[in-house]
Amino acid sequence: MGSERYDSAMAAPVDVSSRTVAELVVQLGWLARGDGFVADLTLAQWAALRYFSRVNRFSRTVSAFAEFHGTTRGTASQTIKSLVQNDYLTRKRSKTDGRSIDFTLTYKSKKLLAEDPFETLVVAASTLSNSASHIVARSLERVLRKMAQQQGKRHFGMCPNCKHLQEDGCYANGKTNFYCTLMDEPLKEAETQQLCVNFLPGR
Ligand code: SF4
Repeated sequence: MGSERYDSAMAAPVDVSSRTVAELVVQLGWLARGDGFVADLTLAQWAALRYFSRVNRFSRTVSAFAEFHGTTRGTASQTIKSLVQNDYLTRKRSKTDGRSIDFTLTYKSKKLLAEDPFETLVVAASTLSNSASHIVARSLERVLRKMAQQQGKRHFGMCPNCKHLQEDGCYANGKTNFYCTLMDEPLKEAETQQLCVNFLPGR
């Protein structure tokens, strides 16, 4: 199937109801979660490992994970605690905010993430052409933003689309061209591609 690539630009235009789109998103979500208990981890624990593998250093806290996962701080805390106890996450005091605790993936969890059931969705999505991927990503982002707005929740996003990003000339030594004006911190290029709890859309 790897050679089959689907491009929306090639398909004949058909009416697709917004309900159909919503149902497809939900179905994909369920399939991508797998059967649970892969490697003896629950769905919530897998969600937490995925979260900590995708977010930047400003977002590796219990409260940020609770926001992202749409759960309570108490439930998020229990999930994270169980991962720390089983050596999937390490905890340390935040460098940027001395009052909060940061969590980081261990070698054990990084190895485990290679078996993540979610990867089957990544492989399936790779059958889309670049242009179709672009359209799907932008469209779903829009839906996500709307949903977050309606529910008064944060919309996580990445630096290139964030109003807090400053590029070029902000660092005299030339080692980085990216700077977060909100956190008042330089950013490595790779960090600009990670999800952030402080994201402010509009750039
Ligand atoms: S520029 Fe925006 S997305 Fe990037 S780290 Fe700063 S607040 Fe987060």
